[in-house]
Amino acid sequence: MRFELTDEQQQVQEMVRSLARKTLAPKAAEIDEDSRFPEDNLRQLAGLGLLGMLYPASFGGSEAGAVAYNIALREVAGGCASTAVGMAVTNMVGEAIWRFGSEEQRRKYLPGLASYGIGLGAFALTEPGAGSDAGGLATTAVEDGDRYVLNGSKMFITNGSHAGVTIVMAVTQKDPKRISAFLVEPGTPGFTVGKPERKMGLKGSDTVSMSFDDCRIPKRNLLGGLGEGLKIALAALDGGRIGISSQAIGIAGAALDAAAAYAQDRRQFGQPISGFQAIRWMLADAATGLEAAQLLAYRAAWMKEQGKPYTREASMAKVFASEAGNRACQNAVQVLGGYGYIREYPVERHLRDIKVTTIYEGTSEIQRIVVSRSLVR
Ligand SMILES: Cc1cc2nc3c(=O)[nH]c(=O)nc-3n(C[C@H](O)[C@H](O)[C@H](O)COP(=O)(O)OP(=O)(O)OC[C@H]3O[C@@H](n4cnc5c(N)ncnc54)[C@H](O)[C@@H]3O)c2cc1C
Repeated sequence: MRFELTDEQQQVQEMVRSLARKTLAPKAAEIDEDSRFPEDNLRQLAGLGLLGMLYPASFGGSEAGAVAYNIALREVAGGCASTAVGMAVTNMVGEAIWRFGSEEQRRKYLPGLASYGIGLGAFALTEPGAGSDAGGLATTAVEDGDRYVLNGSKMFITNGSHAGVTIVMAVTQKDPKRISAFLVEPGTPGFTVGKPERKMGLKGSDTVSMSFDDCRIPKRNLLGGLGEGLKIALAALDGGRIGISSQAIGIAGAALDAAAAYAQDRRQFGQPISGFQAIRWMLADAATGLEAAQLLAYRAAWMKEQGKPYTREASMAKVFASEAGNRACQNAVQVLGGYGYIREYPVERHLRDIKVTTIYEGTSEIQRIVVSRSLVR
């Protein structure tokens, strides 16, 4: 067993860490304060090959592998969590098109996703009436000559108003239980995007509703086979869940660094508060949780890279990392006392940004259901 990164993975870590600390982190508070979409950051990531890390160079990607991708995502999240979620969904969409798309679809979308040439990628599964229960989708796709006609609405779609292509999950008329995946481009008549949601955290990220009103798309925009949508969604979410672990580890790591630095500066009762055991234990607990989370995330990413089944491991990593990360951010705020609660310091933002990691791409409760399936039938 080797607990070491390869030279390439180390290079990715160093490059992205430097970018995150020097360029992304200094802008993160302002992006949060103004709820500003970080297009400049995302274009910079594209220039470094970080938006297409999971498919080959022949399609514009950098094919860095799941471990290097998760390292990069963690580092970006430590700098600016709103930027990381835009990066994560674009990589997830690109990988799904790479895995399940036709040659024509790959050529059409992948280079432009990696370079930001066509915009970001969006993934539209959730609906107003169907969140955890993807089987409850009500958006329909009905065949009509050489087209599919989409009707319905989607909720909480990341990157939705900046997407060059959105993977939309819909049920086909013939068999309502069968879900298919469709590639929808902006500007398609009948496709409208709602106003950005006002959120607790990740305020720079773009989260919108979408509606489809007799939206006619060419049949060639079906991704994968008819009825393969759920398979595609679950495959994308498996990889995505490791990504959420990495986001949580990155955000909480930044909070822990801030708390450790503060604890050594802040003096009470004639000494730095880092001298109090209560403070040291909060830091130690946070660091231990994040280390364990990192090992779970690395293992799941490594299994993915090896082509092994990793659904259970991805869910374990997600539930553990998001919850350990939330606790670490709580501790960081506590270590800073009253200053932790005000905006002058970054830890309250980290706490707001990390909350959603226990919710999106499957809540903690759903991850526990997935894990328990391997234990009891
Ligand atoms: C910022 C943000 C970005 C998002 N981005 C996207 C995106 O890009 N694409 C997309 O498709 N979706 C996206 N989502 C949606 C997200 O994935 C859903 O919010 C999430 O899956 C939960 O669904 P829900 O909100 O409908 O909650 P519900 O499914 O209504 O769940 C409510 C509560 O009930 C619990 N619950 C539900 N079922 C069970 C059960 N069987 N057992 C025990 N407890 C259960 C849940 O765990 C939760 O605590 C995003 C959400 C947010 C907030």
